[in-house]
Amino acid sequence: MAKVLAVTNQKGGVGKTTTAVNLSASLAALGQRVLMIDLDPQGNATTGCGVMKREALPTVYQILIGRSTLDEARIRTEFGFDILPANRELAGAEVELIELDNREYRLRDALDAAGEQYDFVLLDCPPALNMLTVNGLVAAEAVMIPMQCEYYALEGLTDLVTTLRKVRANLNPVLQIEGLLRTMYDPRMTLMQQVSGELESHFGDKVYQSIIPRNVRLAEAPSYGKPVIAFDRASKGAQAYLQLAQEMLDRRDGKVATSQQGALA
Ligand code: ADP
Ligand code: MG
Repeated sequence: MAKVLAVTNQKGGVGKTTTAVNLSASLAALGQRVLMIDLDPQGNATTGCGVMKREALPTVYQILIGRSTLDEARIRTEFGFDILPANRELAGAEVELIELDNREYRLRDALDAAGEQYDFVLLDCPPALNMLTVNGLVAAEAVMIPMQCEYYALEGLTDLVTTLRKVRANLNPVLQIEGLLRTMYDPRMTLMQQVSGELESHFGDKVYQSIIPRNVRLAEAPSYGKPVIAFDRASKGAQAYLQLAQEMLDRRDGKVATSQQGALA
């Protein structure tokens, strides 16, 4: 069965989209069958994979409101994985979903059919706790949390964990934290080292050993519509996401022991 992971953090600009795109490409490069779902009306994950945000295409929006199926809407990228695109229309789903039955379960129901076809489904969530994110958190079995190691990061994390607990209590009892990912890391900054250390002491081995450095190639790649491994495979950013993908596979295959420290319970 596919492992469905929501890449989430209510804070914007922490590397969610960069992670969703580059992790999808890296897992695909390691032979995994991957579907990436763009749940952000900004559609940055969509364009970042070289897919045009044309209004005519069926997107995740049509799926959420029940006008299209996964089969009709998914697109094969050049990079070995599939994407369910988004565009600005998705912003309207927020309001329309309120009227519909099972509004929190729409994505999960649509993904039922995908379980056998993929090894990983990665959801790029918007930077808010809205009905789109809730759909993502209900469809997922776990969350991957990208974060910058800055002063307020741990506070933001407390809010996120509270949210995850609520979702778990009311909508999705199996939801777990898959891992915390340190992004845009600059080892020369003492503050980052400190926050990184605090993160490890709070969340233990829920913190990925792989760290994503601040790397200009990661910021440049989206303007070429490419994941970084298709743009500059030798770059530090590309290597870091490949390493993260390998770490995830090692964890899944039990090659790395993980405790339940830092789980939601
Ligand atoms: P989010 O989806 O959480 O809002 P993004 O992934 O869009 O965050 O990243 C925010 C900005 O930072 C983007 O311009 C992106 O290109 C850039 N960025 C993300 N990760 C890195 C990194 N490791 N190094 C340099 N720039 C990065
Ligand atoms: Mg984003």
